[in-house]
Formats: sequence, structure tokens, C-alpha cells
Amino acid sequence: MPGRPPLPPAFRGHVELRAALRRALERRSLPATVLIYGAPGCGKQSLALWIARTALCTGGSRPCEDCKNCRMALRLEHPDVHWYFPLPRPKGASSPARLADAIEDARHQKLAEFREHPLRYGGGAGVEGIYLAAVHSIRRRAHKRPTAGDQQFFVVGDAERLVPQEASPEAANALLKLLEEPPDGSRFVLTSSRPGALLDTIRSRALPIHLPPLPVSEVAAFLQEERGATPEAAMQAAVLSQGSIGAALGHLDSESTESGQRTRALALLKAAIAQRASSYGAAMEFGPGGARGLLGLMGALQLWLRDLGATSLGCEERVVNTAATDFLRDTAKRLALTPDRAARAVAQVEEARMLALGNVNPQLLISTLLLDLEETLNGRASR
Ligand SMILES: [Zn+2]
Repeated sequence: MPGRPPLPPAFRGHVELRAALRRALERRSLPATVLIYGAPGCGKQSLALWIARTALCTGGSRPCEDCKNCRMALRLEHPDVHWYFPLPRPKGASSPARLADAIEDARHQKLAEFREHPLRYGGGAGVEGIYLAAVHSIRRRAHKRPTAGDQQFFVVGDAERLVPQEASPEAANALLKLLEEPPDGSRFVLTSSRPGALLDTIRSRALPIHLPPLPVSEVAAFLQEERGATPEAAMQAAVLSQGSIGAALGHLDSESTESGQRTRALALLKAAIAQRASSYGAAMEFGPGGARGLLGLMGALQLWLRDLGATSLGCEERVVNTAATDFLRDTAKRLALTPDRAARAVAQVEEARMLALGNVNPQLLISTLLLDLEETLNGRASR
């Protein structure tokens, strides 16, 4: 049909895992609730949707990606595939019914965006949640008969966000009740990159399925074939992604969060190596709120420091920021960096990362960290 957005690319890799899942679905031996866990952006929700297509497909080798069911599911239009994910809390909803409507509207709007841009990587901003109203909507649907066949699928992405900021266990408990006695034909696929943050009672109801990172070569091939990336750019983004297609897409896109964090982390590293005055300036660029947004930045900074450490050891094949080898080589040499100092710097960032999980002032956190790194990297005695 003209004017239709392209179908999302086929699910890649994990051949054995998918063969096992396919067999279980064919025998109807897969439990009604499964939990797919793995690193952010590694394809957990894509696999969850693949499971739904495999079960609903009426073609030959399932999923054929070509029968009516497959195509509807690929277009996120299948009436028996319901996809839920964290959303920002709607503003100004005055009653529970209005809130439920607003959340459902926001979900459909997001689904329309996914349809339009199936490859857009959407890392959550950290303030989104799966609210009680969404769980009620899941429950209402789950108690109805499937529309087309005898099975319907509920994909719940980032399920650990079932308990959002208020720390109210309501949403998680409401889901738990549903999982305890799943209505006939209703199947649940939860995904999480932090399964430890799920309620124990929910975790114990679900069959855990680990989705490991993909080989770097596989991620690079994906970026070349689906995004038209050059072999060099594809390899660079794939190495930085550490086996996650979602993260690799982010690294490929210079406007994305990942690329921005890599650049900001490099600026921090340069500030730490230079003068105290520039450390102070770098710290002041951070707003006083939102320390949790620092987590990705701290991760990017650790990658830079590991690269510096690898360079100082002469192990350049381990460097992930491969476009910056000259800078890394010059810097390691100028600092006369030793492996133990590089390791200490990585540990100092790890400490800052743990602090960023709590409620700390980002400016204070960054300026303290930069002073610590300055001493460590320049080989000066600790305070
Ligand atoms: Zn099919």
C-alpha cells in the first residue's frame, strides 16, 4: 500500500533461543507469563513481540512475517497483541476515568510513532511509569475473549516501572493478581533490564528468559543493512553498544542521547585532566536537578577511562572509542598513566554512579568527581 511506513526489520540473532521458544509455543508448553531480561536496548521488547507473532502466525515457518496475523502484528495493529510500556504521567486528569483515558491516548500516540519509525531508539527519560490505570486496562482486556484466535498477548515493557515514583505498590499488585490467575488464552510477556527491581512475587510467577548481548559483528551487520551505515561507522557504533542494537542505533545517530553522552563525557575527562577552573566550569553546566540522568553519562565516562587504561597498557585492540585513538594515545602518554591509576579512576566514577542513584546535587557530584579524577589521573597524592 503506498504511503505506508516500512515494516520493522526482522528480529536478528539468538537462533537457538528462538528455536526453543518456537517449540514451546507449538507444544503450548510455554508458561502463561514469561519475563525477558537483559541489558537496555538489547531487543527484549522486540523478542516479546516476536513471541506473539510466532504464536499467532498462520503461515508455514512461524513467524512467516507474511500472513495476515504476522503483518498486522508487525504493524502493531493486531487486535490480540497489546503492547504496554512506561509513559509520562498525564497532566490535568481530574478523575480516575479521565486519567485512564489520557494514558490510553498517550499509549496509542506512542504506538503510532513506533509504527512510523520502527528503528527509533526510545530510552525512557526516567520519569515514566506504568500506572495503575494502565494495569486496569490490561486486566479488562485480559478478561475478554481474544478477537481472532484463542490466544492474546500482553507485552509489558520495562515492567520494573510498574512501581513508579510514588513507590506505591498498587500497580504491581494489581498485575500480580492477574498473573496469579491468568484468564484463559491470555499470555503475558514482561521485559526488564533491572529484574531485581521487580516485586519478588511477580518475578516468581514468570519464567525467566535471559536475552544476552549480540556479537558485535551481528550488530554491525544490522546497522549496515538496515541503516545503510558505512562499515567503519557501523563497527564503531557496534563496539560502543556492547552488543545492543538499540544502543548501537543511538551511537550511530549524532543527535541521540548516546552520542551526546559520549561527547559530554569526553568534555568532562578533558576538564579533569586540565585545570581546576575548567573542572568547576564543567560542573556548573549541569542543572541542579535530575541526578539520575547522570547514570548514562557516568557509564560513558567509564568507557573513556577504560579506553585510556587499555591504551596505557598498549592494548589498543580493546579500545571502544576507536575514532579517538590519537587523543587516547597522546593523553595516556602525557599523563604517564599507569593501569592501576586508570582502574582507580574507573572505580571513582563507579562511586559517583552509585551516588547518582540517590538524591544528590549533580553539580556537587560532578565537581567532587572531577577533583578526584584530576588527582588520580595526574598521579597526585589523594586528599
Ligand atoms: Zn505468519
